[in-house]
Amino acid sequence: MKCNKSKPINDHLLRSWIRCRRKAWLEIYGDKQKKLWTAHSTLQLNHQIDCFHNLAQKRYGIGIQACEEGKNIVYGVRLKFPLIKNRIIKGNLPILKKTSGESIWGNFSYQPVLARQGKKITREHRLILSMAGLLINNLQKYPVQKGLILHKENEIIKVEKIKLTDNINSDLIDSLLNLDRDIESKTPPPITSNRKKCTICSWRKDCEKVAIKGGYLSEVSGIGAKRELLLNKIGINNIEELAKIKHYKLKEKLDKFGTQHGNISKQIILQAQSQSTNKSIKLNPAKELNNLRNAKGFLVYDIESDPDIKHDFLHGFIRIPNYLCKDINLKTIKYSPLLNLEKNTENFLWKRIKRKLNHHKGLPILHFGETEPISLLKLGLRQGARPDEIDAIKKRFIDIHLLIKEYYCLPVRNYGLKSIAEYIGFEWEQSNIDGARALLWWRQWKESRRLNNIYSKNLNSIFKYNRDDCIATLMIAKWLIAQE
Ligand code: SF4
Repeated sequence: MKCNKSKPINDHLLRSWIRCRRKAWLEIYGDKQKKLWTAHSTLQLNHQIDCFHNLAQKRYGIGIQACEEGKNIVYGVRLKFPLIKNRIIKGNLPILKKTSGESIWGNFSYQPVLARQGKKITREHRLILSMAGLLINNLQKYPVQKGLILHKENEIIKVEKIKLTDNINSDLIDSLLNLDRDIESKTPPPITSNRKKCTICSWRKDCEKVAIKGGYLSEVSGIGAKRELLLNKIGINNIEELAKIKHYKLKEKLDKFGTQHGNISKQIILQAQSQSTNKSIKLNPAKELNNLRNAKGFLVYDIESDPDIKHDFLHGFIRIPNYLCKDINLKTIKYSPLLNLEKNTENFLWKRIKRKLNHHKGLPILHFGETEPISLLKLGLRQGARPDEIDAIKKRFIDIHLLIKEYYCLPVRNYGLKSIAEYIGFEWEQSNIDGARALLWWRQWKESRRLNNIYSKNLNSIFKYNRDDCIATLMIAKWLIAQE
């Protein structure tokens, strides 16, 4: 592996490094063919464009010339400067805002602006602002004291001011030095122990292979960064070692760090055994599966949402008119997508859902995870459903996710719908698809509808995806029954 000393560090690379040191290294030296496309970056970019449009005023310009002319808003400034020794730092600053001060151009100066998704301001936002701030300092010869963060909440753009203190700036310089060291190295930094970060990372397939091959503890469902460290402290360094240890021994050792760690020792040993042998392990006799086994027909229910505006835009149902143990022809399954175009059309949606549930009275409603019942019952309450109606619906729900976790330990890295369905051999019709992609399709479809009334084929793709989510839930339920 060749090291690339001349490669400048840019804001993109710094962002990657803050998320995961290995990610930054892979961005330079990794095999790009192994990188997956993810919808997250497009969603983020669209969100950024929305936020920036909102800020734009008449007096805007592009590039450094616009700063010289004192425009209120300046787009697309590219700056570079060796903020650390022997390494050029490059910043593509999407937008700057004019503020008070004394710069080389007159009695005004500029401050950096960025847009954020997610609930909180993170270290990543602070460091990226700080990097932009130091580059602007160098250009305008006037210190940047604050940066702005734009955030869209319920369709309203909020502006937060962040003080760029000496502490933040020195954290940035330390980070740049560490990043510099990492990319000088011939070997990649280790896989992050906080594997939740990997779910939306485009290098996840590549890293997964490495982690499985190396028997990394972070591969075991239930072991996060902290627990991995504790296990290392007591001499357990990989899945094999964890799978072999006796339960009482592990409990005794982990209890010293707190009973919450000791109490899950059995669970993580079983999980390690299941993953290292690639076999499922039965945890309990499946008595409570009677309501699944004996029901003569089901509804399966799955929702697609836009979390930024708390809008469940699609309520999908499939209906199975037979016992679970019978063969099911997936091609002929009846799928009903109930769209909720706007948040304020819930009244009509609730009537349609109620009609459907009443029409199939008595059929249990299978779902995967707690989101569906919570959203549906809240919707009913908002629409004035009576307490007895709500109770009756509540009793019909069967959470397949809960059942599977109660009865089986599976050789999967996490107990999400995709991982379990993949383990039992179910494949989504559309490849490399997830909730983020469905959300992107939805937003694009809504935009195309708003602009010129052209109905893009995105809606069909969303329906296919949602239908497959329902079928995956159904197949897991069938798998549960088939194990008896
Ligand atoms: S998949 Fe995980 S470990 Fe690999 S680069 Fe991405 S975040 Fe880091």
